[in-house]
Amino acid sequence: MSAQDDIDPLVKEELLEKDRKYVWHHMSPHNENPMIIASGEGSWVTDVDGHRYLDGMSGLWCVNVGHGRREIAEAAAEQMMKIAYATLVQSHIPAIELAAKLNVWLEGEYRIFYSNSGSDANEVAFKIARQYHHQNGKPSKHKFISRHRAYHGNSMGALGATGQAQRKLKYEPLGVGFQHVPPPYCYRCPFGQTKETCSLQCATAIENAIVWEGADSVAGVILEPVITGGGMLVPHDGYLPAVRSICDKYDVLLIVDEVICGFGRSGKPFGHQNYGVKPDIVTMAKGLTSAYSPLSATAVSAELYDSFKEKETTSHFRHINTFGGNPVSCQVAITNLTIIEREGLVERSAEIGQAFRARLEPLNEHPHVGEIRIFGSAMGIEMVEDRKSKVPASVERVTTIIQACKRKGLLVGKNGDTVPGYANIITLSPPLSSTEEDVNFIIETLLSVFSNEQEKG
Ligand code: PLP
Repeated sequence: MSAQDDIDPLVKEELLEKDRKYVWHHMSPHNENPMIIASGEGSWVTDVDGHRYLDGMSGLWCVNVGHGRREIAEAAAEQMMKIAYATLVQSHIPAIELAAKLNVWLEGEYRIFYSNSGSDANEVAFKIARQYHHQNGKPSKHKFISRHRAYHGNSMGALGATGQAQRKLKYEPLGVGFQHVPPPYCYRCPFGQTKETCSLQCATAIENAIVWEGADSVAGVILEPVITGGGMLVPHDGYLPAVRSICDKYDVLLIVDEVICGFGRSGKPFGHQNYGVKPDIVTMAKGLTSAYSPLSATAVSAELYDSFKEKETTSHFRHINTFGGNPVSCQVAITNLTIIEREGLVERSAEIGQAFRARLEPLNEHPHVGEIRIFGSAMGIEMVEDRKSKVPASVERVTTIIQACKRKGLLVGKNGDTVPGYANIITLSPPLSSTEEDVNFIIETLLSVFSNEQEKG
């Protein structure tokens, strides 16, 4: 859809009325006047009024190849006509081909268990980790260490792993056995260190938690390579390797949540590849299909998988879901990954980040910008009331920036929800296919919006 075929205002009013009456929106407080997106092309989406916006968050960090890919739609249609559904109690061609392709992307030997969402993929990881220890003579290993500020999903286990209290309030008790440690948040180091004095106490905190909980009780550590939704917290380069060694020392599995960082977002195929570590389990969703169809996966190292096939009748993984690994979604994923490979979008992601880093440099002088953090093409702009005290920017100040961007045609996100002192980080993760023109538009819009904010004080 383009500006020429925007809909009649009366039709829009009817849609809004039905929306108000019937739709329960995700996360947001009751919204009387939501933007109704009608179509998209490349990095741009169009609402029913015909207004175009650059989708600076790729939806929810997921439309990696951009909107309107006919090739993906055709692959889905063709697969639907061949076979739209088959179970993975048996097997089917797209699931097989995709699992083989994921092994190339992962640069290792992994078994792929398919599900529907990032939350599902993490639940599967927790169950596999517990069962693995059970079958290896260590049945008491059941706890997981996670970090404050991390988000790992909406279901009871994944929300238990999540380290954002405001998302958990009112839903407790959640899955038990999740312990949280301080995140690697260098701008506000929980250990009072600076980049110069850092001795990776945030990694030591994981070791301490394992020791204090009792290594015999800890099954795994779950982490994103970079905490994304929780504020774009890019760790010290030594953090992930240090956590890997700690996990090895205590026979604790390292589960890396690549739901956002995977599929090129980080400038490498997977985020952990930036740090040279090999996870035991990798969970993935979002960019796997660029959100053209729901699909997630839990990749489990071949060594771990071996213990699930030892005793045919008792050691298999007792987990099933109806839609996970749906043939259409798998075919969509194969086509999506082929596009990323063919168009060099992993490298493009790194280039986008470099352009942000170079050309947004002036924002580092802005009185309300504390720090800009970039990982591949994902970016967080941490806003403060005052650069010296680092008091987090008020919700109003952050909202003003977000709304000004929207008025200029740029959709950006922010971490967390409306909790004051927490939701002060503006986030961007545009499609990896963003053109030079798109990237210029993002940069110029941000520079102009922040400069206007500075003028107004
Ligand atoms: N893990 C991370 C890092 C996420 O950001 C998300 C969702 O945003 C999830 C897991 C959960 O994925 P889903 O919303 O598909 O369940």
